[in-house]
Amino acid sequence: MSAKWTDDGTRVGGITPSAAKWNEPLISAEIWGDEILTNPQWLRPPVRDRFGRFIRMAYHHRGVLRYAGYKAWVEAEVNRRWPGVRLNWEVRGETVAEVSNASWRVKCPYCPGAQVVQPGEPFVCVECINVANDGYALAVTWPDDETREWIERILLARPAPHNMNWLASKGETVDTLIAENLEHGFPPEIGV
Ligand SMILES: [Zn+2]
Repeated sequence: MSAKWTDDGTRVGGITPSAAKWNEPLISAEIWGDEILTNPQWLRPPVRDRFGRFIRMAYHHRGVLRYAGYKAWVEAEVNRRWPGVRLNWEVRGETVAEVSNASWRVKCPYCPGAQVVQPGEPFVCVECINVANDGYALAVTWPDDETREWIERILLARPAPHNMNWLASKGETVDTLIAENLEHGFPPEIGV
């Protein structure tokens, strides 16, 4: 089965036949919406603010779900840049998940790139394909579930998504985020 996604240019064209699986959608477009956001097979129930917003992970981004999983999306993005490139998913080293613009992401340690991440999935940068790490993937360290939910609740108390940032790679802590909220006159977290 090949995908027919063409509306936003996410679909990869001209890839090799052996890479055809990259075009298989993870889900059909028809079930996009409330069902995908509440289906525990794909997603933990997100913490939402009273307007329904939440901090997104990779599978909350429709473009990612157009491929057969997170790795398939990364491979497709890489093949948009260098058709035929094969990635090495073997892990050597680790990096941290953080939040930018209301999405969980990894800031690439090797280049200016950054990309959305999904719990349980390693990181290979679609821009530099981790060449500085000899092409090996990096394990992604996430906060424990309780801390992660707390971070999300703090960031969701901010009105604008572009301010929903937790830059773990720059040493920001939970206390940093709460202080920023109070400094700007926002509640320390949603529901308070
Ligand atoms: Zn990179």
